[in-house]
Amino acid sequence: MSSGKRQPEQPSRAHAQAVWRPTDLDGLPIDPSERARNQAAEQTFNIRIPKHYLSQIDWDNPRDPIRLQTIPQAEELLFDPRELTDPIGDRAHSPVPRITHRYPDRVLLYPTYQCAVYCRHCFRKESLSDASDQFSEELLQPALSYIAAHPEVQEVIVTGGDPLILSNQRLTYLRTQLEAIAHLRMIRFHTRVPVVTPQRVDQGLVQALKGRLMVCVVTHFNHPQEIVPACKDAAQTLREAGFVLLNQTVLLRGINDDAETLKTLCRELFYTLGIKPYYLHHCDLTRGLTHFRTTIEEGLDIMQKLRGYMSGPCVPQYVLDLPGGNGKIPLGPSYTVGKEGHSYTFRNYQGKVCSYQEVVPQNPPVKQSDPQSESDASQQK
Ligand code: SF4
Repeated sequence: MSSGKRQPEQPSRAHAQAVWRPTDLDGLPIDPSERARNQAAEQTFNIRIPKHYLSQIDWDNPRDPIRLQTIPQAEELLFDPRELTDPIGDRAHSPVPRITHRYPDRVLLYPTYQCAVYCRHCFRKESLSDASDQFSEELLQPALSYIAAHPEVQEVIVTGGDPLILSNQRLTYLRTQLEAIAHLRMIRFHTRVPVVTPQRVDQGLVQALKGRLMVCVVTHFNHPQEIVPACKDAAQTLREAGFVLLNQTVLLRGINDDAETLKTLCRELFYTLGIKPYYLHHCDLTRGLTHFRTTIEEGLDIMQKLRGYMSGPCVPQYVLDLPGGNGKIPLGPSYTVGKEGHSYTFRNYQGKVCSYQEVVPQNPPVKQSDPQSESDASQQK
């Protein structure tokens, strides 16, 4: 690990944590031999599990999907030399502190490097561990000035850390600062708060986020077990505020790497919460995530079992974020079998091979009789 683990800050009452330091794990029903095995990982990485999320763990199941996402595991310290500390080039594309500018019309803004939960699979794990500073109006000024000086930027993706752990007062400050930049059109918040502390989502939060700009909230649900009535209430509050709701899921071995789990998750997201499944991320090349990473081939096989078997809006886009900040690549099984001129052969979702003749404008235009009118005319005779 680079600069080592920072001291956890005492969480505020609004984000009451059940676990926020290794000794808090002592009170959980974890086998002592497992604790001993995982001790080095507990000491190395941030730990935080809010009460709500912790209460969803089934301790009788050692493979419980929430347990696996939150309780440190020894495997996190097994680094493959091909893995990366900055897996998608956040730092390589950072022109000023707290900004990543990878794509022309949008930037990432990091108002905090703290989260409501620290996920074992986090791709920014080492940035979060390295964070020495937190929210401050002064620290944000260079980032806000950078956005103001770049009229091509239309959308600000507020991420972190998790921006929704900030107080309503700080969120209001951030929102009004962004609203003052005339060329901005949307603020997008990336957050796990509606998953892990859904009680935080209330009218106070809505008022802090709502203003001149269109607001999009991108949640991060990974497993259907995470979706409980409190999440439904949170999603409803955000929907009724008029916010656009999307979800991104990380494909994680042993947690959600099967089509049936993902089908249930995506249907629950769309039909119960009204949240569009947006991305299914192939697990990044973050150090220490080998145990969570599937192969791309496995991911493609899962996608083949989703498309066509679920309503279109329920199907997320499977994506790979290229190292070095080279952007996202949509991954998907190919449905094109062959092409000759304007004749295509496709395989449908059931594996049936179908041909398709593309109709393209002719040059020069050829006047053709309309077979339907001719047939109508002959019937009238
Ligand atoms: S909430 Fe997001 S940024 Fe925070 S630890 Fe989890 S995955 Fe990482």
